[in-house]
Amino acid sequence: VAPGEGSLVSWEEDGRRWDVVVAGAGPAGALAAYKLAREGVSVLLVERQSFPRWKVCGACLSPGALEILDAVGLGDVVRNAGGIPLIRMRLFAGRHEASLALRGSMVLSRMALDQALVSAAVRAGATFRPETRATVEGLQSERRRVRLAGPDLEEEVVEARVVIDATGLVGCVRGERPSVSPDSRVGLGAVLEGSSGDVPPGELHMAVGARGYVGLVRLEDGTLDVAAAVDPDALAGRTPAAVVGEILSESGRPPLPSACVHSWRGTPALTRSATATAEARLLRAGDAAGYVEPFSGEGICWALAAGLSAAGAAEEGVRQWRPERAAAWAAIQRQVLGRSKRLCHTLAWGLRRPRIVRSAVAALALAPSLAAPLVRRAGRAPAVGIFGPSRAREAT
Ligand SMILES: Cc1cc2nc3c(=O)[nH]c(=O)nc-3n(C[C@H](O)[C@H](O)[C@H](O)COP(=O)(O)OP(=O)(O)OC[C@H]3O[C@@H](n4cnc5c(N)ncnc54)[C@H](O)[C@@H]3O)c2cc1C
Repeated sequence: VAPGEGSLVSWEEDGRRWDVVVAGAGPAGALAAYKLAREGVSVLLVERQSFPRWKVCGACLSPGALEILDAVGLGDVVRNAGGIPLIRMRLFAGRHEASLALRGSMVLSRMALDQALVSAAVRAGATFRPETRATVEGLQSERRRVRLAGPDLEEEVVEARVVIDATGLVGCVRGERPSVSPDSRVGLGAVLEGSSGDVPPGELHMAVGARGYVGLVRLEDGTLDVAAAVDPDALAGRTPAAVVGEILSESGRPPLPSACVHSWRGTPALTRSATATAEARLLRAGDAAGYVEPFSGEGICWALAAGLSAAGAAEEGVRQWRPERAAAWAAIQRQVLGRSKRLCHTLAWGLRRPRIVRSAVAALALAPSLAAPLVRRAGRAPAVGIFGPSRAREAT
């Protein structure tokens, strides 16, 4: 007999009914699954790709992201996986260059980070199904139906009291269209082989051009992570490597090595927000709820903060879902991430104005300390005071 509303007993019948189904095993989904499993909630974590998987990302973890991992007992995962302390950002625009000291950030490939978080979730008791695409469907007797398509495209339907959509920029709700900013940039990325290039471990090189910007970091295995945000029309008739090469040469940077470990990939439009961050028994977290741009390197931190908050909200929703939970979740997201995202929007506006960027970099070259308040602000953990009931239990 299935436990009734109000109970938190694991609830699975032949793997078809779950307290919570989490779609997407990026930082938001994996951390939500970890936290829920630790609270004894039955949780199925579904990921459409085989794992570990590479994704377009600058691979920089802000101090805020590391603070959140520490707070949930996962502080060691980044160091244990070979994370490299990030000590310097070199900023290039026009022929100007500024060098800014960083403190408390780390670099770790997304293959290693996301795998470590998923492993932690599985150790905590979550069930993980890679190579399985989730599509969220309607409600049926107080449960959300989720259609799962496995690697052989065989389909099955599971039910959950609460679903967390943590599918990043892709989305998993049938028919849903996020609202995309008309001047949104798109992401591009690759991992390149070899020692060529002049990016030592522990440095982030950021080149800003008229059509976008490019970040370069050395990963834990010595390969070079390249991640860019560019105007989509810059790609008309050109390869991602050519567009990125142009931005680098505009700012006086040497060309990139050509051999790829992970070849060039693009993302959908970046600046977006979900039409609703929550619906009945459905919470969106991380990029699935909305994203701005990667320049400030906060996306992973936002995703972790949202995943953690979503775990708290889902846990309460499993006990009892009230209609006002959807509005409450939207308010939590605004409260936790609103300020950081507003700041990131302002930064994105400035980055589209080459004269402002060149003057700012020239000024920072003379007085790097001018950037200190912004670097500190971008590195701070969001106010994740609202983790839900689990947070209260953890603190006691
Ligand atoms: C160019 C670029 C550079 C960036 N650099 C940085 C940086 O240096 N530092 C930083 O903090 N952030 C950076 N970001 C942002 C960061 O990558 C994202 O904000 C972060 O990954 C969001 O995490 P998430 O868990 O919400 O989504 P994701 O990490 O995107 O994970 C979503 C997962 O869901 C899976 N999925 C999708 N659809 C389905 C489905 N239907 N069913 C099951 N699974 C599904 C996907 O395969 C994916 O694994 C960068 C982004 C870009 C584009």
